[in-house]
Amino acid sequence: MTDKERLEHILGESRVAHDIILAPLTTFQIGGPADLFFEASSAEELMRVVTAARDLSIPLFLLGRGANILIGDKGVRGLVIHNKAMRFEIDTETDQLLSESGAIVWPDIINKVVDAGLSGLEHYAGIPSTVGGALWQNLHFLSPPPERERTMFLEEVVVSAQILTPAGERKTVPNEYFEFGYDQSILHTSGDIVLSAIFQMEKADPTRMRSIVEANLEWRRDRHPPLDTEPSVGSIFKKIEGIGAGRLIDECGLKGKQIGGIEITHRHANIMVNRGTGTARDVLDLIEFVRETVSRETGYDLEPEVSFVGEF
Ligand SMILES: Cc1cc2nc3c(=O)[nH]c(=O)nc-3n(C[C@H](O)[C@H](O)[C@H](O)COP(=O)(O)OP(=O)(O)OC[C@H]3O[C@@H](n4cnc5c(N)ncnc54)[C@H](O)[C@@H]3O)c2cc1C
Repeated sequence: MTDKERLEHILGESRVAHDIILAPLTTFQIGGPADLFFEASSAEELMRVVTAARDLSIPLFLLGRGANILIGDKGVRGLVIHNKAMRFEIDTETDQLLSESGAIVWPDIINKVVDAGLSGLEHYAGIPSTVGGALWQNLHFLSPPPERERTMFLEEVVVSAQILTPAGERKTVPNEYFEFGYDQSILHTSGDIVLSAIFQMEKADPTRMRSIVEANLEWRRDRHPPLDTEPSVGSIFKKIEGIGAGRLIDECGLKGKQIGGIEITHRHANIMVNRGTGTARDVLDLIEFVRETVSRETGYDLEPEVSFVGEF
């Protein structure tokens, strides 16, 4: 039997696809084929397919909104699971949000919680992310205007999550388990799969929250290229405290620099956009060019923030 047949046999399903091009499932619109591909439509299904792949020793990659990864041109060997476990609900007794890990933070969840008069997530309006990807990276953005005095992090509202460990144990873990940091959580190394999560919200005035949402969308419109016409993954390089990766790149005069179909946008020196024909190879080449130039001219080492997935 092939891996596809063995997986379908265990799952009792004939929904395992093969050779699916991943580019359209990422915000960069880049990436070759997944050998095997499965869309998980609930947390239960996500758990079953992860368990089946592990039992069969088929390597797997869990794809959320595809907003923080660069998938190689040669694609991904093994199984890519697209997380479409998108159910969520609000517990009006406790003001908690209970969400499956594939739910979309903006606009789906934020619109619902703001309408319900619950605060805690409105700061992340405009950022493409699933709940799972947001936990993985500890989603963050500036506090509301006009002060914008600090960075807010998703960890501030996380109560607990249900995870599937690499050993196959399903358990509930508290906030502290994640060891959240800047662009950081234990998920980077643990191999855990988040199935669902609970967030503590606070009652607030929907009108005030709507104004924060609008201000943050406007902030993005002014500074970021729009995803529908200029695909990107947001910031390419990690923040350098007190200096800013974008500022260093700008100082080296690299805005507008293009390799193949990938260009450093004039709007923001830390964002690369796909001009339509961009490949993962072009991105890697441009990353290398920027790192070398910035290191030579400023002495700083830039580290990519985006994760590299599959074969290049
Ligand atoms: C235009 C633009 C603007 C952005 N602005 C910001 C910003 O202001 N602040 C910010 O913090 N980020 C920002 N980002 C980055 C990105 O939106 C976040 O990192 C987001 O949380 C990624 O979520 P995702 O669902 O797309 O994850 P993906 O890119 O699909 O996956 C990222 C990683 O998370 C893992 N993962 C996903 N789901 C799970 C799960 N259920 N369990 C375990 N692991 C999982 C994946 O396997 C992968 O390793 C921006 C991106 C873009 C394109």
